[in-house]
Amino acid sequence: MKAQYQRLGISEKIYLLGKEVEQELNARFAAIDETAEYNQLKVIAAMQAHKVSAECFMATNGYGYNDLGRDTLEAVYAECFGAEAALVRPQITCGTHALALALMSNLRPGDELLSPVGKPYDTLEEVIGIRPSKGSLAEYNIHYRQVDLRPDGSFDYEGIRAALNERTRLVTIQRSKGYQTRPTLSVARIGELIAFVKGIKPDVLVMVDNCYGEFVERTEPVEAGADLIVGSLIKNPGGGLAPIGGYLAGKKECIDNAAYRLTSPGLGKEVGASLGVIQSFYQGLFLAPTVTAAALKGAVFAANLYQRLGFAVVPDGTEPRHDIIQAVTLGSPKGLIAFCKGIQAAAPVDSHVTPEPWDMPGYDSPVIMAAGAFVQGSSIELSADGPLREPYTVFFQGGLTWYHAKLGILLSAQKLEEVGLLPI
Ligand SMILES: *Cc1c(COP(=O)(O)O)cnc(C)c1O
Repeated sequence: MKAQYQRLGISEKIYLLGKEVEQELNARFAAIDETAEYNQLKVIAAMQAHKVSAECFMATNGYGYNDLGRDTLEAVYAECFGAEAALVRPQITCGTHALALALMSNLRPGDELLSPVGKPYDTLEEVIGIRPSKGSLAEYNIHYRQVDLRPDGSFDYEGIRAALNERTRLVTIQRSKGYQTRPTLSVARIGELIAFVKGIKPDVLVMVDNCYGEFVERTEPVEAGADLIVGSLIKNPGGGLAPIGGYLAGKKECIDNAAYRLTSPGLGKEVGASLGVIQSFYQGLFLAPTVTAAALKGAVFAANLYQRLGFAVVPDGTEPRHDIIQAVTLGSPKGLIAFCKGIQAAAPVDSHVTPEPWDMPGYDSPVIMAAGAFVQGSSIELSADGPLREPYTVFFQGGLTWYHAKLGILLSAQKLEEVGLLPI
């Protein structure tokens, strides 16, 4: 085994460090496997309940009327996520698009949007118009209010009560920390927040940005009272196989609104050919619980390894997990870049290229991204990224298999050592 790792560039010292860390994680890994088992059964039950069959995998083209595969898949997603309805489409290009679609279709001019959990994901700043942008909600006279989390990460209930008003139409809650170092919200905490908000304003809609959270726990936020959950198929629920796509699941009315916005008033869910990608959506969903488990093991392993090396990590080595993202604060541009080079070097695709920081559309500082993915930008595949700004935190996620995630983390440590940043 050691020789196999050495062949891929891991020194004996790093190999042994990894072995030591892994030995202490048996109980954590067993718990992750148990969640995967539970969710695997949930997915299979949903597929059986909706009679998924070979006909569902047929490609449709043109308008895509009567696309059995598409309509059945949406029923399966709804069932899996405890929702009335779902919209799961290759025409939804990414997570940001899915979120923009959910917001733009369920808000009307004059309405107010409230985030009670602080600043949303970077790309949503332009969707909302926090940073002025063409086509933003702000251009359509949809207002935005934000209540930050308190310094200890708890909800600012008094601030939220004060911010809710007669114009508040939709409350958006981001489950995952995204590019921040606040804790990720568990489904239970999201449920408490929803109960509080609805206790004050029962008719307000609550949307959860569910990116990176799917299948990490046994339940999803709809089951905790959310009206709508939204995510990307090149993250957890696509299981690494979906080559594109996004989903929304929730109340039928919210989903219908989104469908009329995605296609056209009058057409809604009835059109949208699946062009042959639908089988990968089914197969990806089928694999998603175990793929998510692999990514989670990678995250837990990274937390424990880097914590032992003295780096600040969020979540820490022992905390429960509510998404697949691991933040490691490297403290310098050199460290951030070295980490990303290690992840890149571990990839099955493009391991020979070197990641460089660039000004990505939608982000306000240069970002470095490492990914050698089968699907471009897929972050359920092993990947690491981070904005080149203080405190130089890398956000690490994914791994279609645990073994690949482990190799990537060991190589990241190896690269840090090679530039003299590892204290061992
Ligand atoms: C990834 C992500 C998004 C945006 O998804 P893209 O597919 O990158 O557009 C939004 N919110 C959160 C929390 C995310 O993790």
